[in-house]
Amino acid sequence: MTTDEVENTPAHGVSRRFVLAAGAVGAAGVVVGGLVGGVMGRSSGATRSTSATESVDVAIIGGGVAGAYVANRLAADGRRQPVVFEASHRIGGRLWSQAVPPATGVMAEFGGMRIPPQHQAVLQLAGELGLTTIPFPASTTQSLVRLRGTRLRRGEVERVDQFNYAMPAEIGALSPDELFSMINRSVGITSETSLSGNQSGSWSETLTWRGRSIDELSTLQFLVELLGHDGAQFVRDWTAFEMWATSASTWLGVSNSTGGGSYAQVEGGFDQIPIQLIQRAQRAGAEVRLGEQLLSIERAEDGSVQLDVLSVDTGVTRRVRARAVVLALSAPAMRHVVRSSSMLREAPALTEALDQLVDSQAVKAYLSYDRPWWTDLGIETGRSVSDSVLRQHFYLSSDRSRPALLLAGYAFGDVAADLLAPLVPEASSDSSNELSAASRQGITSVLSEVHGIEVPQPIGAVAQRWSDADDGTVPLWGPGDAPHRRMRAAITPVSGVSLHVCGDALSLNQGWVMGALETASLVLQQGFGVDGI
Ligand SMILES: Cc1cc2nc3c(=O)[nH]c(=O)nc-3n(C[C@H](O)[C@H](O)[C@H](O)COP(=O)(O)OP(=O)(O)OC[C@H]3O[C@@H](n4cnc5c(N)ncnc54)[C@H](O)[C@@H]3O)c2cc1C
Repeated sequence: MTTDEVENTPAHGVSRRFVLAAGAVGAAGVVVGGLVGGVMGRSSGATRSTSATESVDVAIIGGGVAGAYVANRLAADGRRQPVVFEASHRIGGRLWSQAVPPATGVMAEFGGMRIPPQHQAVLQLAGELGLTTIPFPASTTQSLVRLRGTRLRRGEVERVDQFNYAMPAEIGALSPDELFSMINRSVGITSETSLSGNQSGSWSETLTWRGRSIDELSTLQFLVELLGHDGAQFVRDWTAFEMWATSASTWLGVSNSTGGGSYAQVEGGFDQIPIQLIQRAQRAGAEVRLGEQLLSIERAEDGSVQLDVLSVDTGVTRRVRARAVVLALSAPAMRHVVRSSSMLREAPALTEALDQLVDSQAVKAYLSYDRPWWTDLGIETGRSVSDSVLRQHFYLSSDRSRPALLLAGYAFGDVAADLLAPLVPEASSDSSNELSAASRQGITSVLSEVHGIEVPQPIGAVAQRWSDADDGTVPLWGPGDAPHRRMRAAITPVSGVSLHVCGDALSLNQGWVMGALETASLVLQQGFGVDGI
């Protein structure tokens, strides 16, 4: 430990969620300077500072799966001493699993929930951690599709024009599978095309639509030009993913990887992966600090990195010197840190990459029942879709003799999330996400309308909204430079400073744990000479 003087620090990097936590403590009597109406302003508030400066070897900022993985591998390697700073009081970030009694056998997954078969490294990591992966409930031909007033079983859908969308006759005559093949062919994707990218190349770089790179074109423009406005609406409603503002290549990558296939899930909860990683890292000597939020980061005179870290419980800011820093944050959290750090504001590789991200909000609402009422309709497991505010309905169990869990609503994209949001409490990942009686009734009415029966009232009900608070969103590449170039440049954004950036936000597998682990592995290899996945 070394000491030096720290002035009262303006809390310009302080975000809404974590500051609310500090405000609550302030109200309880601990000194928190600069409170404005009970909540500390982002640009003008001030926190109390200590004069002691702590020195650490490797500061890992963020205890999501990316930060947990880096901490785990560095601790196991033994040459470096990692310290994890996590702003909330929970490890896992956008992996957050919760039981919803009485349906205790299967967990509500507020963030990540399933692992596609091509993400072998995630499955392997779960196995190494002693976790069991089990099949994620697959869809059947009995699933419902209810769009524009027409309700059909998926197995009954033969032509797109069975639904009431105004489309050219030749498109309406296609089956949904034929429609998606036609969309792929229009830009040159065939069954031979490998849709995986890596650091040195991207599958999308050579593909064009009407002479323009699909990396530079928005999904909205591409789909409207190809299918007309209602055709584009049909595609959005059928997939239930609203991605208008992303690049066409991002949408094509997602739509080609989320269709069929047999997904897996982690028994006991997806957040067991970061939790187990952190527990093992601690046993190998890593330190973990919960409730510690990075406010700003600058280059120190001696070549190390200087961090201002706020204790969200006490409101005290202190200075930390680190020989190396790993930022493992969501995109909104990263932007907060960049805004308050002159060193990062002048790092174009990072700021331009963040500017190219489209933050997609998402809302998930889970309801539990004493039995799976959907089996009365012949639906066992899988997903139905509707153009209701709930959008997607995942039936997570079908054992008639046991309590059951329903992912009643999963809205993806800003418009969809805004429509469902009024039913979801203003919750943070530090507080209870129980739904009110009125919200439960509202959701049940929509479910009844979608399913055409009187759906029973739930026993348990929880929900989470992922927004541009530091909890994070689902980041997706918007139109612009090829993502693999962005990613490569952003990993070590400031030359001459041992500062590395990881997390799914700047990966080629955004919105997937795989992306978080891939970038964490690059940081381990390039920054520390340690192997990852
Ligand atoms: C709705 C939704 C559905 C998803 N579905 C899937 C899926 O089915 N399968 C899949 O594989 N993936 C899925 N994902 C993606 C997956 O959850 C993420 O890719 C992964 O969890 C990201 O991990 P991360 O470590 O990069 O970031 P995060 O999990 O966001 O971790 C960042 C951490 O940093 C902390 N933090 C923020 N600011 C600060 C600060 N200033 N100082 C200190 N700490 C800070 C946060 O509290 C958080 O714990 C989904 C995500 C969402 C939101």
